[in-house]
Amino acid sequence: MKFCSQCGHSVSQHIPQGDSRLRYVCDHCQTIHYQNPNIVAGCVPTWGTQVLLCRRAIEPRKGFWTLPAGFMENGETVEQAAQRETREEACAEVANLSIYTLIDVPHINQVHIFYRAELLSRDFAAGEESLEVRLFDEADIPWSELAFRTVSRTLECFFADRPGQVYPVRSEAVPPLAGLIKPQQ
Ligand code: ZN
Repeated sequence: MKFCSQCGHSVSQHIPQGDSRLRYVCDHCQTIHYQNPNIVAGCVPTWGTQVLLCRRAIEPRKGFWTLPAGFMENGETVEQAAQRETREEACAEVANLSIYTLIDVPHINQVHIFYRAELLSRDFAAGEESLEVRLFDEADIPWSELAFRTVSRTLECFFADRPGQVYPVRSEAVPPLAGLIKPQQ
């Protein structure tokens, strides 16, 4: 960060009084610019025994498959964000959302939250950010072509839990990948 979003003057890093971390502070208006993790919300949309995946039309991980998910916006709940992302990326409506995985990705300052959700119909299509959207049986999941580790992990949990029909909420963290310039999320 170089400039204050309030007044446009330069910022510099200080530890404000009573704080313990370096923050960007405006040299002119003294506004402290806090930077906090972003929440990514998504769904595991199901239709019968099949799961809906989207092939990404945008970077990062263009061409790879993902669960519909994206950054939460101000003014919405996490569940609404997950539904909106499913609508935007897969043109699909889901209901009966149940929180399922909460995965911290601290090396990129993100928290990914996925809900299990039921598709209301087979009426879906590729949204702006998708090349292709389709339903997969478990046997056909393209494990080596999944876009993000949080997606792989959520699907692993889902297929492990499904035979027993019990889906405990999973809260875990993804460790950083060593040796990659741009880590997979
Ligand atoms: Zn300022």
